[in-house]
Amino acid sequence: MAGTRPEAVKIAPLLLDLRGRGLAPVLVATGQHRAMFGEALAEFGLRADHDLGAMAATPDAVVGPLLPMLADVMRQQAPDIVVVQGDTSSTLAGAMAARYAGVRLAHVEAGLRTGSDDPHPEEMHRKMVAQMAQLHFAPTAAAAAALAAEGVRTGVHVTGNSGIDALLLMQARLAGDAQLAASALAPVAQVPTGRPWILATVHRRENQGARLMGVLAALAELAGEAEVIVPVHPSPAVSGPVRAVLDGRAHVHLLPPLTYAPFVALMGRAALVLTDSGGVQEEAPALGLPCLVLRGATERPEGVASGNARLVGCETAAIVAAVRTVLGNPAERARMGRPALLYGAGGAAAAINCELLRPVPAASAQTSESWSRSDGHHRSSRAERR
Ligand code: UDP
Repeated sequence: MAGTRPEAVKIAPLLLDLRGRGLAPVLVATGQHRAMFGEALAEFGLRADHDLGAMAATPDAVVGPLLPMLADVMRQQAPDIVVVQGDTSSTLAGAMAARYAGVRLAHVEAGLRTGSDDPHPEEMHRKMVAQMAQLHFAPTAAAAAALAAEGVRTGVHVTGNSGIDALLLMQARLAGDAQLAASALAPVAQVPTGRPWILATVHRRENQGARLMGVLAALAELAGEAEVIVPVHPSPAVSGPVRAVLDGRAHVHLLPPLTYAPFVALMGRAALVLTDSGGVQEEAPALGLPCLVLRGATERPEGVASGNARLVGCETAAIVAAVRTVLGNPAERARMGRPALLYGAGGAAAAINCELLRPVPAASAQTSESWSRSDGHHRSSRAERR
């Protein structure tokens, strides 16, 4: 079950690997980011089997309407296991629906924590799903340690992040297909090449308002020293201010949200990325792209620890100073631009699927069945149901 752009990117490698094993996984799209989700999936030759269309303006408004729809899908499909990814409202709703139906639950990208209430509601979702899932696929050892610190010690597997599988797959496709590579860079064909390119993505709810204005003022100040390229997130709370401050400025290039191949190609071409995205923080080190993080804390500390990423927050002066340090100092640029596979090396989907397909120990199957019985929905044994 999945619903947002990053979930599409990170679930696609699992689906491709399962299909490669001759299986037919069922993908349920919640509809949270309907267009961006569908586009990202299509780039991997995939589409959802069920599209629930539960798009809503706020995360809390997504979960309630999804539960009865997901319950219907559960009844139709009678899955052996439900897989959710990440920390969105779709993740939480999928997890709840699985557990209400007494179905085993696996959480991909488990154990990410900032240790604070931010980002909200994502940190809350992660903790709730950790308490519900039987299988926890932690991308890194630090993520597994965070789960252990919360008492989640069984069913935890350190697998790497399937987002890096997706990235390496797309990178290989771009490298092997000149036509695809050329069309992927078409959205930036008009951007002059004389100055370094700063790629900026900003969309997080906690950065909207004054923090976003701080970021936009920094981008306006940096335009001219560099070409500033911003794929603008469709959320009106983001796109409105971005256009109001940056539209029409020299050396600023506002683009629609890019599909995955163009975005990967652009990351390969940029001198640095300014971002509040989680996925981009994982991808940038893998590509050797210096990453300045527009946040005060991150649930992906590995990039900061390795020197590939720096937390710069959203204050204009701090962002401008950090960008100038990277662009003006070749040693710093080289240090932050050392390619590093911190979040996986490309085998995450296969490792996760091996665990998903492992026969369930009798004791766990029993627990799952008694749970559903106590809820009044008796399910026959797993063998009978299949
Ligand atoms: N991405 C994309 N097009 C864009 C911006 C990002 O395909 O215009 C990809 C990016 O490569 C990463 C994912 O979308 O795989 C990150 O999504 P987002 O930043 O929306 O969410 P987060 O990772 O913060 O949850």
